[in-house]
Amino acid sequence: MFDVNKVRTDFPMIQNNDVAYLDNAATTFKPQCVIDAVTNYYTHETSNVHRGDYDLSYQVSEDYEKGRETVARFINADTREIVFTSGASMSLNLVAYGYGRKFLKEGDVILSTEAEHASNILPWFKVCEETGAKIEYIPLSSEGEMSVEDFKKAMHDRVKVVAMAHVSNVLGYIQPIEEVTKIAHEYGAIVVCDGAQSVPHVPTDVKKWGVDFLGFSGHKMCGPTGIGVLYGRFDLLQAMDPFMLGGGSNARFDICGNILLKDAPYKFEAGTPAIEAVLGLSAAIEYLEKIGMENVYKYEHELRVYAIDKLRELDNLIIYNPNASTGIITFNVKNVFAQDAASFLNTKGMAVRSGNHCAKILIELIEASETIRCSLYFYNTKDEVDRFVEACKEITVENCVGIFF
Ligand code: PMP
Repeated sequence: MFDVNKVRTDFPMIQNNDVAYLDNAATTFKPQCVIDAVTNYYTHETSNVHRGDYDLSYQVSEDYEKGRETVARFINADTREIVFTSGASMSLNLVAYGYGRKFLKEGDVILSTEAEHASNILPWFKVCEETGAKIEYIPLSSEGEMSVEDFKKAMHDRVKVVAMAHVSNVLGYIQPIEEVTKIAHEYGAIVVCDGAQSVPHVPTDVKKWGVDFLGFSGHKMCGPTGIGVLYGRFDLLQAMDPFMLGGGSNARFDICGNILLKDAPYKFEAGTPAIEAVLGLSAAIEYLEKIGMENVYKYEHELRVYAIDKLRELDNLIIYNPNASTGIITFNVKNVFAQDAASFLNTKGMAVRSGNHCAKILIELIEASETIRCSLYFYNTKDEVDRFVEACKEITVENCVGIFF
């Protein structure tokens, strides 16, 4: 049985602060078990992985690889398909550089959406510049939702890559990924999914979803910063190039410059990895598994509905995504600059984000260059939502004078 009050005792940041932290799409708090896993490495296990011929190194190498098994289990993949990266940005860049640059050519099309985060569109801009491929956009509703019908209409034979977020970091809709992959595969295209805002919030099954690549970050799912994952179908990982070479990624090289790379995932993990962060991510996943991702999604959805029902009653707000199902609520206060409103909320002990949220081409769709984003996670409470709604009532131009710092 999910008990939010019990869950909250696991998080030192919640115990040590009064702030209502409503910026979980940016990063999340860490439970004690994750902090312990990281410090345990530094206090008891420090040594490098895959390199030493002594007990400490064997032990930490084993724990590091167990971390890979944990990630694989969490998303229903094979361990050979789990590449550790520094975060979703690196994962998505790796696909663009290692797959896109190698396999796309002039005339090919990358199909994407106007709601993408910079990390899932800028790397593809670069691929286009270098290969002559071009980007086309799937039409979205004014709330940022994509229909399967519109996706079908946008697909054609020249589309080789579909690059899209499962959940947009601004509008929070869950896009119909299973239908997308089915249709894309009928055309012989691959699907690169940005899971930064979905893997932490919904049960993930890469086999069921049918995605070819999936990138996500540890820090948005209770794990440490500096660690992320690229899931890739093994045959695709084998075919693509790493964009970094070095120790640990090669099986052999010689004086003539011949390099024999290891198989995936190791060929993508040159250099000493963020060992403590892998151990911390593994602890975070075990923690989420104990809570159950179905419970995470269900609770977050209920809290969102509770918040939206209350916010809808305020006539000073414009809500851009009232019908989304994840914990992201994007809005503006009429006549008030978004950053002023967020700064006002800060004076009331509330952490929200304002701005364009790295999705700069979405602006035209929602017709707002700046918005305020409240993003919930499973440790937020109705009480925090009530405080937030009360504070939103008070946001007026007059109350925000001189507030911006
Ligand atoms: N994609 C989406 C949808 C995101 O929200 C983010 C983080 N804001 C990223 C990619 C990039 O994640 P990271 O900064 O952890 O690399």
